[in-house]
Amino acid sequence: MDGAPGLLAGKRAIVTGGANPRGIGAAVAELFIAQGAAVAVLDRAYPEGAAAALAAGRVELHCDVSSAASCKAAIERAKAALGGIDVLVNNAGIVAATRIWDLPEDEFRRMVEVNLTGTYNITHAALPALLDSPRRPAIVNLGSTAALRGGGLLGGSHYAASKGGVISFTKALARELGPRGIRANCVAPGIIETDMTLGKFGENWEQELKQGIPLQRFGSPAEVAQAILFLASDLSSYSTGIVVDVNGGFHIH
Ligand code: NDP
Repeated sequence: MDGAPGLLAGKRAIVTGGANPRGIGAAVAELFIAQGAAVAVLDRAYPEGAAAALAAGRVELHCDVSSAASCKAAIERAKAALGGIDVLVNNAGIVAATRIWDLPEDEFRRMVEVNLTGTYNITHAALPALLDSPRRPAIVNLGSTAALRGGGLLGGSHYAASKGGVISFTKALARELGPRGIRANCVAPGIIETDMTLGKFGENWEQELKQGIPLQRFGSPAEVAQAILFLASDLSSYSTGIVVDVNGGFHIH
């Protein structure tokens, strides 16, 4: 993003699921800070504890997005540290490749609890602060190509359903919150090189998959972060309820 510094200058952002340094959430936090935002990174990997202070534009807070109570507590701490919330990125998520005939109810429930209910939990907890924001608030949710093409290569029906739910949730938020000044959009990544995918396909299948993608490669977390920055910033000020594909052409509508 050379030549366009400060796209989020003065904004206060929440990014969930950002503890993994090789993940999309970490890339989003890094790019947001470089673009002038103060960022609270929420992840279940961080230790539980008292409110932490901002350092170098970021604060790290424990949060299990599948727990409404944990989300409320984390959002309160984030608000105290940031002074408000203008941008929310619901990135935390899990994946599993279980086929339907092997898929037990508890695994289905867990997938939905983290990916879909987790998106609701954080959004609901952060909503009063977003409504109070005078800085053109925006929500960006993480969908997936899996939701658009009938399942993922690594994700089963429960993953696809949870991400399809996130996309529908986002569109409904756009309608409900647009009149209140909040935009809500989705990014749908294809195959991105993170711990969710790295080494999971095997050498031969990986090469075959890449040949089937028009851009002939997998994406990077930074490339997803750029699309998220677009939707979080005023660059997309007249867009709400949209799904931005970041998939190298892997799925073309
Ligand atoms: P990673 O597994 O690298 O990162 C996800 C992060 O979310 C991890 O830090 C993880 O912690 C955290 N997390 C998981 N469950 C919870 C929870 N209950 N509460 C709080 N944090 C949690 O994944 P990616 O960076 O690859 O994925 C980020 C998002 O992008 C996800 O929503 C994913 O579904 C989506 N996506 C990714 C694609 C890809 O190809 N990588 C493709 C399409 C969509 P922990 O490490 O402890 O599990």
